[in-house]
Amino acid sequence: MSSIHKGTAAVWAGEGPVHTPGTISTPIVSSVTFAYKNLNEWQRVALGQQEGFIYSRNTNPTVCALEEKIRVLEDAEAATAFATGMAAISNTLFTFLTAGKRVVSIKDTYGGTSKIFLDFLPQYGVHVSLCETGNHEEAEMEIAKGCDLVYLETPTNPTLKVIDIQRLSAAAKKAGAITVVDNTFATPINQNPLALGADLVVHSATKFLCGHSDAMGGLLAGKKELVQKVFQFREINGASLQADPAYMIARGMKTLQLRIERQNTSAMKIAHYLQQHSKVKAVYYPGLESHSGHAIAKKQMRGFGGMMSFALDGGYDRVEQFLPNLKLVHLAASLGSVSTLAGPPRTTSHVELTEAQRKHLGIPESLVRYSVGIEDVEDLLADLEQALTKV
Ligand SMILES: *Cc1c(COP(=O)(O)O)cnc(C)c1O
Repeated sequence: MSSIHKGTAAVWAGEGPVHTPGTISTPIVSSVTFAYKNLNEWQRVALGQQEGFIYSRNTNPTVCALEEKIRVLEDAEAATAFATGMAAISNTLFTFLTAGKRVVSIKDTYGGTSKIFLDFLPQYGVHVSLCETGNHEEAEMEIAKGCDLVYLETPTNPTLKVIDIQRLSAAAKKAGAITVVDNTFATPINQNPLALGADLVVHSATKFLCGHSDAMGGLLAGKKELVQKVFQFREINGASLQADPAYMIARGMKTLQLRIERQNTSAMKIAHYLQQHSKVKAVYYPGLESHSGHAIAKKQMRGFGGMMSFALDGGYDRVEQFLPNLKLVHLAASLGSVSTLAGPPRTTSHVELTEAQRKHLGIPESLVRYSVGIEDVEDLLADLEQALTKV
């Protein structure tokens, strides 16, 4: 490099064959494009006749490593990654739902997903039918009328309603529809929708998979032919995941099982504690026998997860008194982090609804959503106790 000029050296010096042999961690390959010495090889890769990378909007080695992780965890044929969970969901819906098609889903999907059903898909001539969450008879009837896609999410936000994946994906199959399940709350540690009959599973990797609230991403896994179709849409509309967050998510996923096991156990203890507290009116956690979805949850989940919500005895003023007194939580949106996060659906997930709409969805104004972190549960219980005492 000594004979070249400074400007050239600034560009070329130190750049070369990529990975140090023997590295035990997937490197962050932030290269946008991939070079070839041999034009024939380049063309073969571009035509998909040979393995390789061309351009990172399509595929990237770090992102591929993450895709492989979720593929194996969900026991899927194929997987592909997106910039956010909403990108995974919207790309999937827009790939399969074109003018004249019909989708059946539930009223309690994640806020962004619900907006796609209510505001966007109808604009493109897609028929949307949203059933009462947990009313399986109604869902089966709507599906049997004929549809192209059944979209489920379980457990749901924020009251942790549980949907029978096996039952509704069987109904979908009979109607010739594909079933897509948002598995964000459960994670593949607690639940595998594909094994229950779903065709595709989507994740907001921003939540439990990443686990540290420091990277955003979305993942889709399932039947190869279907994943391939969504991948082709994503490569063109450009909602691709970058190598940096892919690395962060894959790193977080290495401790996924440890974190989820801890969060399962802690959430169960906290739910039992809250249930017997005089200042708590109701606890929503699928692990509780009193929960409406407990029987189905027991059948299809290996653990009940780290998400719960509870209603204080009283109105929203109680929540305003209670939440700021908690010391071991971030009062923040999102969920599934190593640190405990809490907030009222009224200011977070369901902020855009009116009080009447929230009531219709069965969301009390005094509801607190609580995403259990990996802290010692004794400390979380003591924190809840001192804050409840002050209410
Ligand atoms: C957060 C979330 C999403 C959206 O994911 P982003 O990464 O924020 O785009 C979708 N579904 C569920 C259940 C979620 O909690």
